[in-house]
Amino acid sequence: MIKEKKSLKGKKLPSRRKFFKAAAATGVAAVALASCDQQKASGPAVVKDRIEVSMVATWPRDFPGLGTGAQRLAERIGEMSDGRIQVTYYAAGERVKAFDSFDEVASGNSQMYHGADYYWVKKHPAFGYFTASPFGLTYPEFNAWTHFAGGQELWDKLTDEFGTQSFIAGNTGVQMGGWFNKKIESANDFKGLKMRMPGLGGQVLGKLGGSPISLPGGQIYENLVSGAIDATEWVGPWNDEAMKFHEAAKYYYYPGMHEPGSALACGVNKSWFTSLSKSDQLIIKTACAWADEITMAEYNAKNGAALARLINDQGVQLEKFNDEVYDAFAQGAKEVYAEVQAHSDLAAKTHASFIKARKEIGSWTNLSDSPYISQRNRALGI
Ligand code: CA
Repeated sequence: MIKEKKSLKGKKLPSRRKFFKAAAATGVAAVALASCDQQKASGPAVVKDRIEVSMVATWPRDFPGLGTGAQRLAERIGEMSDGRIQVTYYAAGERVKAFDSFDEVASGNSQMYHGADYYWVKKHPAFGYFTASPFGLTYPEFNAWTHFAGGQELWDKLTDEFGTQSFIAGNTGVQMGGWFNKKIESANDFKGLKMRMPGLGGQVLGKLGGSPISLPGGQIYENLVSGAIDATEWVGPWNDEAMKFHEAAKYYYYPGMHEPGSALACGVNKSWFTSLSKSDQLIIKTACAWADEITMAEYNAKNGAALARLINDQGVQLEKFNDEVYDAFAQGAKEVYAEVQAHSDLAAKTHASFIKARKEIGSWTNLSDSPYISQRNRALGI
C-alpha cells in the first residue's frame, strides 16, 4: 500500500474551483461559498489542532446527487469544525479506483470513503443489507431499522471485522428497474442477459439465468453503448438522464426490486475515528445524518421532472415489470437469501433482524404512506 504522504506528493489535488463551479450550477454551493468569502475577509484563519482527512469515493466527480452529495459532506465537515477538520475529497480514480475505496480506508491509507456498502458483498454478503437488498427496505424503513431497530449495531459488527465503521450518508430512494433494449415480458427474457447490477440484486438476476456484472458508475455508459452489456440499472430518472442511457436503450422499467432505497455510506477507518475526540466524532456523524436527509430530498425533488424529460424529449418508453416477472424475482431473492444466511452467524443474524424490520416497520409503511398516496392521487386525479 502506498503511504499517504508519498501518494499525495506531486499529485494534482482536485480543483476546488471546479467543484464550486459545478456545485453552484446545481444550486448547492451558496453556504460553502459564503464561508470562503468570510475567510478571505478576515485573512487566513489560524487553526489549532487541524485534522487532515482524505475522503475517497466510488463516484465520478461532480456526478449529480452521488458525487455532489459526497463533496457537500466533505465541505460540511470542514464548515462544522470551523476548518479544523479539513477533508480533501478524491472522486473515483483520483486517488484510488472506485472499488478500491474500501481497502484504501480499511488499510488506514485514507480515513474516509463515500460509497455504497453493497459494493463490498464479495468481502461479506451481509454488506448487501446496508445499502439496499432485493425486496428490502425503503428509505424511511431502512432509517428506522438502522437508527432504532438494531441495524446500526449489526452494521458495526460487520465493519468491525474489517477495521472500519459506516454511517448512513445519503439515499437515492426507490430505484428504477433498469434500461433494456427489448421488452421484458417474462422471466425467460433474463436468460443470458448481461446486465449491470451490483449487490444481492445482481445475484437474484443470476438465479433467473442472467449474467450480473458490477461496474462503477463511470464505466456503465461505454459498456452499454459498445454492447459489452445488454442492459443496466443505475439509480433513477435524475441520475440516469445524466448518464445518457437513453442513447443506448429505449425501455425503462420500474419498479426495481433490487434497490428499494439505497443508502449511501460514509465509511471511516475505525482506529482513526475512535482516536478523535467525542465532539469531533459527533461532528462527522451529524454531518453524515445531514447528508442523508439533504441527498434524499434532492432526489425526491428532481426525479419527477427528469422522468418527464426522458419520456417527452428523449422518447423513452416507460414500462412496468409484470407480476410474473416480479414473482420470479421473489423466488430468486429467496434462493439468494438462503445462501447469504448460510455464510456465517453474522449474516444469519443480520438477515433475521432485516426480516423482522421488514415485517414490523413495513406493516406501518403499508398502512400509512402507500394507501395515503394512492388515495390522495386517485381522489384528486393527480
Ligand atoms: Ca443501482
